[in-house]
Amino acid sequence: MTTTPRTALTIAGSDSGGGAGIQADLRTFFACGVHGMTAITAVTVQNSLGVEGFTEIGVDIVTAQIKAVAGDMGVDAAKTGMLATVEIIQAVAKTLDEVHIGRGTGTPFVVDPVAASMHGDPLLREEALEAIRTELFPRATLVTPNLDEVRLLTGVHVTGETTQREAADALLAFGPEWVLVKGGHLHDSPRCVDLLSDGSRYVRLDGPRHATEHTHGGGDTLASAITASLAKGMAVPDAVGEGKRFIERSVAQAYPLGKGIGPVSPFW
Ligand code: PLP
Repeated sequence: MTTTPRTALTIAGSDSGGGAGIQADLRTFFACGVHGMTAITAVTVQNSLGVEGFTEIGVDIVTAQIKAVAGDMGVDAAKTGMLATVEIIQAVAKTLDEVHIGRGTGTPFVVDPVAASMHGDPLLREEALEAIRTELFPRATLVTPNLDEVRLLTGVHVTGETTQREAADALLAFGPEWVLVKGGHLHDSPRCVDLLSDGSRYVRLDGPRHATEHTHGGGDTLASAITASLAKGMAVPDAVGEGKRFIERSVAQAYPLGKGIGPVSPFW
């Protein structure tokens, strides 16, 4: 008899170009050997040149997708990506409580606080940042902001090790169990150094920087790889270590596609 794999749920937006969002999450879940499930929050019109626009999905449909899979298949870990609006964020937070996903429930929950694409195109209505801080962070097992998102969420402008630690503390004050302050966007640095902390431990994850401009979907791929490892029962520091190895390889295998920025590639 075939065994059933662990399950991971992504609550996120669709990228028509197939590089980021739901599409990146699903192929990462597949590559990591977990069964991927989706609650789609928004549909973006997007290619390698940027996001041309998006429309959000009705709140009732977003929450019904979460309840449908949680009530039947069960969720071993979940993550959020693009959530688009305050209404969706509030409804997702309430639904996660109802289906017992998130901090304190035994089912890990990763929040990737997606605010904009790497082209600078907004993926979140402006007033929704506050809802991410107040509704999602206290429910999160782990939050995984990049440096632009750190600045938007905390006001801390990370330039090196000291400010990265300041940012971690500022983010932890909003209530997540762990925070991963990603250093990949610190382009002056020859290495990609991320900082993982739960307020008592500060773990530096030092990795190589690959010389590629094709990093579309990198943040989603990392958060999904971590979520897959959490679904398999790993502790947060081990899951983040696995995720870091996974994204390094995915960036090393990134490929050009279209006229703009190509995607990272989780194909092994
Ligand atoms: N589109 C969607 C639906 C996303 O979720 C994301 C990132 O999370 C992006 C686009 C942006 O990806 P990138 O910043 O890698 O271009």
